[in-house]
Amino acid sequence: MTVPTSPAAPAPGSATGSATGPVTDPLAALRDRAVWVFDLDNTLYPASCNLFAQVDRRINEFIATHFNIGMDEARVRQKRFFRDYGTTLRGLMTEHDVDPAAYMDYVHDIDVTGVQPSALLADALARLPGRKIIYTNGSVRHAENVAGRLGILDRFEAVFDIAAGGYVPKPDPRPYATLVERHGFDPADACMVEDIARNLAPAHALGMTTVWVRGEQEYEKAGVGAGVHIDHTVDDLPAWLAAVAGV
Ligand SMILES: [Mg+2]
Repeated sequence: MTVPTSPAAPAPGSATGSATGPVTDPLAALRDRAVWVFDLDNTLYPASCNLFAQVDRRINEFIATHFNIGMDEARVRQKRFFRDYGTTLRGLMTEHDVDPAAYMDYVHDIDVTGVQPSALLADALARLPGRKIIYTNGSVRHAENVAGRLGILDRFEAVFDIAAGGYVPKPDPRPYATLVERHGFDPADACMVEDIARNLAPAHALGMTTVWVRGEQEYEKAGVGAGVHIDHTVDDLPAWLAAVAGV
């Protein structure tokens, strides 16, 4: 179930207990996890940056251009693709043989200056001892663009993107297995951090600890309290991760 983290979270700066001391803090227990898997959009940067609104607009422009239809009709089609296939791209590929690379390049050609660099997040990621991987339904280029702007790109050893997952998006369990195999880690010693709760279900099934960055959109909340196991619920990822890392 969801666990409000603020009461359990030590204030930043107060959680510097020695690694050999008794672990009574559930956040401190996470500190030494071997691997951290982070979603990108609306997880590593807040939804308030509205970056995804730009991607959303580009997606609908792509559909409108591809089918030579108006934006309203494009939006209706996009919502159906997203609902039926998990991502718009999957629907376009399955029903219309759209080239995924061309689509990804188009929709992620956006201005990321609305994302503010996060020194706290950069410090927390640097202090956290485990390996860190970005796992996104977007592209490597998009992840590098955004993580570069956040000032955290060099904190990650790899980006596992939609192409790496064979263009099968989260929450299909198959790319999660590919991720684990390709990067060679024990899911039981890993945490996954995500804003879309249902994307955490396959991670939990593999044995990962699940961290939900609480989202306000219905598609982000779907499954919470109804089948999706969440170990930690987080409202402010940089502050929470800093507490875990003992920054
Ligand atoms: Mg996301």
